[in-house]
Amino acid sequence: MAWDRDKPAAEHHRVPPPLVAVFEFLNSCDLRTFGEHEPDDGLVGWLGECDADERELALTLRRTLRAMARANRTGELDTTVATEFAHASAALPLHARSLGGGALGVTAAAGGTSGALADLLAAVIVASADGTWARMKECAAPDCRWIFYDHAKPRNGRWCSTAGCGNRMKTRAYRNRTA
Ligand SMILES: [Zn+2]
Repeated sequence: MAWDRDKPAAEHHRVPPPLVAVFEFLNSCDLRTFGEHEPDDGLVGWLGECDADERELALTLRRTLRAMARANRTGELDTTVATEFAHASAALPLHARSLGGGALGVTAAAGGTSGALADLLAAVIVASADGTWARMKECAAPDCRWIFYDHAKPRNGRWCSTAGCGNRMKTRAYRNRTA
C-alpha cells in the first residue's frame, strides 16, 4: 500500500493546486480493492446537501471526467462518453470573464452544488489549455484505478505509484509468463 487513505493524497501526488479539487472529486469514488481496501463511494460526503438532479449531474460529471483521465493514459475515448460529458457540462452555470491584462478566464456563475461542479469543470478547461489536465490519469492497475498526476517528463506514467501498483503489476505479469 502506497499511502494511508486518511492522508492528504493530493499532497502525496504533488497535484498542482488548481487541480487539487478535481483530483479529490475524481477520487471520491475509491475503486481500490487490493490489500485491505474495499471500494468506497464518498461522493455524498464530498457534495454535502443537494437534490437528486444535482447528485445525478455530479455522478455523470465524475464518471465522464474519470473516463477522460483514463483516455489521457490510453489515448482512447468512447464517443458516448464525449456525448454524456457535453450534456452534463451544458447543465452547468459557466461564464467566460475578463481577468484583466488581456487574459480571459472561465468561472462558475452560480453558487451551491451546480456552482461547485462548474468550478471543477472550469479548472479542467483551464488545465486542458495549459497541458496539466493531460497528466491526470487513471492508474492502469485494474484493482486500483486511482486518479493520479503523472510527473514523468515524457508523460508516459501508467501507475499511481511505481513502487506500489507498478511493482505489483510487473510481478503479476512475470508470474503469469512463467506459470
Ligand atoms: Zn494504482
